Amino acid sequence: MLVPATEMLKKAKAGHYAVGQFNINNLEWTKAILLTAQELNSPVILGVSEGAGKYMGGYDVVVGMVNGLIKDQNITVPVALHLDHGSYEHCYKCMEAGFSSVMFDGSHYPIDENVEKTKELVAAAHDKGISIEAEVGSIGGEEDGVVGMGECADPDECKQIADLGVDFLAAGIGNIHGKYPANWKGLSFETLDAVQQKTGEMPLVLHGGTGIPADMIKKAITLGVAKINVNTECQLSFAAATRKYIEAGKDLEGKGFDPRKLLAPGFEAIKATVKEKMELFGSVGKA
Ligand SMILES: [Zn+2]
Repeated sequence: MLVPATEMLKKAKAGHYAVGQFNINNLEWTKAILLTAQELNSPVILGVSEGAGKYMGGYDVVVGMVNGLIKDQNITVPVALHLDHGSYEHCYKCMEAGFSSVMFDGSHYPIDENVEKTKELVAAAHDKGISIEAEVGSIGGEEDGVVGMGECADPDECKQIADLGVDFLAAGIGNIHGKYPANWKGLSFETLDAVQQKTGEMPLVLHGGTGIPADMIKKAITLGVAKINVNTECQLSFAAATRKYIEAGKDLEGKGFDPRKLLAPGFEAIKATVKEKMELFGSVGKA
């Protein structure tokens, strides 16, 4: 059964570890992440972007697939199904479809509008027992070939949004989505510490977990980060393993073209990446 992410993240913050959010794209991704979480006895959050939801055929498909896997694969660790960077409209769609958690990304709105919409969505989510994440300070990343450096959130604005009753908060601290550029300045721990001091017990979320050095991840966890989003890294390891299989000509040997064989190395690669992250984040054995 799916659960909201509130309890698992409260426990993580209190226990000084973080729960990974791993974004899913299809059955292989979802099964690999769920099985790894179960094997390691770790709580887990499955992230679904609007684009990935559309790709998989719609939110009802996603909810059906995830619930089916949890049942048929005997997954007993806490699993949250979370809309990643949701728009106002899509938060409602996912709540209707059976997601157990949503993120409202109102970071591109002026702060007053972000506050107003967040407040409304918090009430709607909590009414259904769904957890909700909000974002303050936009998280950088590549857009039209230009890599944004990722701005740092204003700690007072973070407190303003946290006080609306959101369950966990994403604050920009110089992190970006996708691969980090060579001249990246690193995470702003000064900002993170200031945000934590203003928001108290609120679990904080670190987006763009791919490529942040392990020591920075560990330090961020000590400063209140309880959820870390991983997306690109699974994509890179899946692609590399698939490339290796094809370059070795294995798809041309016997029944090597069978999709269940063709996609198996990528599946194993995702499992290995998820395991590595759960170990780094400290969530192993915390289910
Ligand atoms: Zn993000």
